[in-house]
Amino acid sequence: RGMDRIAVIGSGNWGSAAARLAASNARRLPDFQDEVRMWVHEEKLDTGEQLSVVMNNTKENPKYLPNVKLGPNVVADPNLESAVKDATMLVFIIPNEFIHGTCKQLKGKIRPNAKGISLIKGMEFTDDGPSLISKKITDLLEIDCSVLMGANIANEVAAEKFSEATIGYKDDKQTADKWVKVFGAPYFRVTSIQDLEGVELCGTLKNIVATAAGLVDGLGMGNNTKAAIMRIGLKEMIKLSKLLFPSVQDATFIESCGVADLIASCLGGRNRKVAEAFAKHGGKKSFSELEGELLKGQKLKGVVTAAEVFSFLKAKKWEESFPLFSTVHSIATGQIPPSAIVEYAERTPKEI
Ligand code: NAD
Ligand code: 13P
Repeated sequence: RGMDRIAVIGSGNWGSAAARLAASNARRLPDFQDEVRMWVHEEKLDTGEQLSVVMNNTKENPKYLPNVKLGPNVVADPNLESAVKDATMLVFIIPNEFIHGTCKQLKGKIRPNAKGISLIKGMEFTDDGPSLISKKITDLLEIDCSVLMGANIANEVAAEKFSEATIGYKDDKQTADKWVKVFGAPYFRVTSIQDLEGVELCGTLKNIVATAAGLVDGLGMGNNTKAAIMRIGLKEMIKLSKLLFPSVQDATFIESCGVADLIASCLGGRNRKVAEAFAKHGGKKSFSELEGELLKGQKLKGVVTAAEVFSFLKAKKWEESFPLFSTVHSIATGQIPPSAIVEYAERTPKEI
């Protein structure tokens, strides 16, 4: 068999579905070793059992992706170091707030020639500007790191309903081709493009737009309104991405990672769902309260990303150039009511 060994770092809703895809290719293709180890952030289930133990007994993840067989060759491992031992291909799929700590633990424990890919949708801004997750992984672990983003609601991918995804890579096309082999399936069509930052920013920023779309749903405003919000949101995604990274290409936004993920998330994602509930409660229950009630351990990214983006826009005095992004933050923090979404987001953006 081939030399490449895949490890998946994370085991949430998408982490489990992505591990299932990779495991099926590891079994099928001679390029990869059969076993796919998956790092599980250990927790106790309501039954009192440890999640990783149940996963290894049943080959399912009962908490984050119930009733789906992950594959006989997926091994759940609560020990990060042994999960990545000898792995040459590292799939990062944990909520972004945990990436720094996880990479620090991984430092010195991974193969020096390992390749990484991030499926994580989220970002931070530091005093030095935007901090993309793929860059953080590259900087902390000194490895190449591509990204995979797309219209990929995890439960639908796990049910093998057709979807597409986009791999964004920096300059190593050969490795991008390998990643296509890791994830591609007849029901999961993966293409790669040389626009790492563009692909990652699409996946990250669309969560703010999906939050806005959920507010519109909660207010019962209808499809035309939602489409208007999606259009404005897409324009802001393009404008901000290009201001942050002038290398970002227009064509990226019509790949799966761009407009398709935006549509899928605005129709059926978790950010949409929780924002809808927020608007229905008239903003009286906080996003974090609703996240706990509705997502049961899964994580919400849109409002956190909106806060990160807003702090950057404010520092640049660009708030009025991004009315939709700014409005989502103002609504999520209770400064204006959910009903302000259309009026405020539709304001003519100030020129930069
Ligand atoms: P999730 O939101 O379903 O679950 C949260 C995960 O965080 C769990 O695995 C939990 O064990 C883990 N966790 C909790 N505390 C932790 C800690 N201290 N350290 C490390 N891990 C900890 O997870 P997910 O859906 O796999 O999301 C991961 C990323 O995938 C996010 O960036 C998300 O935007 C992205 N994504 C999700 C979907 C989807 O449909 N679920 C699709 C595409 C991309
Ligand atoms: P949510 O986190 O809003 O569910 O979005 C999932 C996603 O990124 C689909 O591609």
